[in-house]
Amino acid sequence: MTDDELDEYYDSLRGWFGEPWPSPEERAPVCEDDAYRRETPVGAECMYCEVPVAAGDRGMIVPHLGGERATTVMHVDCMLRAVVPGYEIPSKKSTK
Ligand SMILES: [Zn+2]
Repeated sequence: MTDDELDEYYDSLRGWFGEPWPSPEERAPVCEDDAYRRETPVGAECMYCEVPVAAGDRGMIVPHLGGERATTVMHVDCMLRAVVPGYEIPSKKSTK
């Protein structure tokens, strides 16, 4: 594969699923583009919390490099918690 073909291939794998976040009116750049909106990968394990994605979850799909799977999925809250210091998952916070 050429680099361009490889880019195209990875582009076809990546995406986001569920409702746009933080809200449908105010979308984060990563979920702005409906062209990358994918079917929710129900049952696929989140790379952070290892809990399978359920219908209604929000998250991202990224190409998985090296290994038997083509993609890796993650809940958007798990992803934010990993990259934003002090980020708390809103749903968990509200149940306290
Ligand atoms: Zn997760």
